[in-house]
Amino acid sequence: MDIDAALGEQYVDYRCSRCGMVAQAAVAGYGTGLVVNGVSLSNAQLEAEVGAARAARLAPCPRCGHRGRPALLGVLLVGATVGVVAAMAIGFTVAELFHRSDPEGRLAPVVGTATFVAVVATMTALKLRSVRRRVRFHRVML
Ligand SMILES: [Zn+2]
Repeated sequence: MDIDAALGEQYVDYRCSRCGMVAQAAVAGYGTGLVVNGVSLSNAQLEAEVGAARAARLAPCPRCGHRGRPALLGVLLVGATVGVVAAMAIGFTVAELFHRSDPEGRLAPVVGTATFVAVVATMTALKLRSVRRRVRFHRVML
């Protein structure tokens, strides 16, 4: 088994869907490749490129601040998936713990919903912060 990593900057063409600004995004990229018995399961270079393209789509436009809606939605969906799992786990725990003082189970949905919102907000904020750190725009002269 071989693990290979690709590091360095990937250059991605960026075009704002709102104001049409064209720029080149330099994305600090990383990818990991996994080779088992000579068979490549994932390609480090390819993974770095795909990750860079995704990060560039998530970065706000340097001119108007517009952020690609489909990319943002993708981040929210990942956060929501994790949030649902966390909310259910916490909800069941709360229902179990407070079964005696809260026999109708009114507390669990409230705590579950609060957990869901907190997880989605935290995951989205973390993702967007990492994008801000990784993506730098270079103005393209036309
Ligand atoms: Zn723009």
